[in-house]
Amino acid sequence: MKLSALGRIALATGIAVLATATLPGTPAAAAPVKRKILPVMVEFNDASFQFPDKVKASTPDTYFGAKSDSAASFLSEVSRGQYTVVPAVPEQFLGPIKLDLSAAGCPQGKINQMTREELTKRGLVAGKDYESLSIVFPAQKTDCPWAGLATLPGPTTWINLYGTASGIDVVGHELGHNLGFGHQGRFLCTGGNLGACKSDGGSSKTIMGGGGWASGFSAPELIRAGWLSGGASLKVTKSGTYTLRSLHGKGSGTRALDIALGGDRLVIEYRHAAGNFDAKIEGVHAYRVPKGSYGASSLIDTTVENKTAGNNAPSNTDAITKLTDKANKVSVAVVSSGGGQAKVKVALNGDSLAAVDASPSKSPTPTPSAATPTPTPSASAATGTEAETDDSEPVTELGSDGLTAVGDRSTTLPLAAGGGAALLAAGLGFLLLKRRRGKHA
Ligand SMILES: [Zn+2]
Repeated sequence: MKLSALGRIALATGIAVLATATLPGTPAAAAPVKRKILPVMVEFNDASFQFPDKVKASTPDTYFGAKSDSAASFLSEVSRGQYTVVPAVPEQFLGPIKLDLSAAGCPQGKINQMTREELTKRGLVAGKDYESLSIVFPAQKTDCPWAGLATLPGPTTWINLYGTASGIDVVGHELGHNLGFGHQGRFLCTGGNLGACKSDGGSSKTIMGGGGWASGFSAPELIRAGWLSGGASLKVTKSGTYTLRSLHGKGSGTRALDIALGGDRLVIEYRHAAGNFDAKIEGVHAYRVPKGSYGASSLIDTTVENKTAGNNAPSNTDAITKLTDKANKVSVAVVSSGGGQAKVKVALNGDSLAAVDASPSKSPTPTPSAATPTPTPSASAATGTEAETDDSEPVTELGSDGLTAVGDRSTTLPLAAGGGAALLAAGLGFLLLKRRRGKHA
């Protein structure tokens, strides 16, 4: 609890500072961020990879391969070319490096510390030669209750490797934590009344919410990362009808509406198949962002039915049609949705939806203005300062109850521990952690 409070403060502060710095309305033509990541295969004094050659072969492919679901391809596509990971060393990865450490008891702090010491011995400087570290080790004896772990935000991921290759659903998820994204849950707000919601599972609209990599990230996360700058996210300050294009995919246009909801934010997006994403997600979706923490949003779902990555529910099952928040005098109604475009009415300050003209009051391509400051590259900024200091490992592990995806682990409850700035989150499957959401929120 203490940790997440700190994390939240750090996050909010980061956003405030960056938002101020971005104000001059510069279009989003910044050079893409190429973050140097160093995957390192690590072994223990009592556990080694069963098939090291296969892990050696798969590792560069997992992180940097040309395939669409390598970490580099995934991040490049989901950020629309604004962010990716690149190899920190010519060989693309290092190892296996043998640590004089027993695998027993999942000593993640020690694993990180000793790996970094080994890298220092090899002349590699954190924050300079490599900006992110991804430690890959054999799972057989660690008994770690997760397939992946990450600092949130931060420069470190741990991959507790079963088999010979980890996939994007683990690596991409953990790198999402590094970017400052928590697990994304779901608020069930039956009938669209935002005054009566309860926490209920994961969102399934992002790789951070059990949606798998083919859902990419959701609009609040893209805002958190600074990838919806230049008018792609529109801060709505007047009642009106607004046009949205698909959240993912190439081209211009408004991809998200960002609306004040008391001290929170309401973010609206339109999902539609684009590139490698959203073949199974369609329609207008909504999120609640607590106190400006875009990395800690939750889906607002108005019906009990739920579209998950694994079920056969229609792709628009969780799409909204109407939301009402009486206390904050905000209401939203979908005018039309489909075929790559949606029109959404927003009524603020208690205005009636019926009184809002249904024809779009905004051009689909709003010019960036002071009214739309989105936090910019918080990821790079936030992690840049942490790269050198990550060797002390204050851990709050967000255990996961969805490790079924990895196989044979039973539910693991969260282990609270330590105090400090970095919050660790465990990944994969997890299918969220209802009460955990409070921590992220
Ligand atoms: Zn996670």
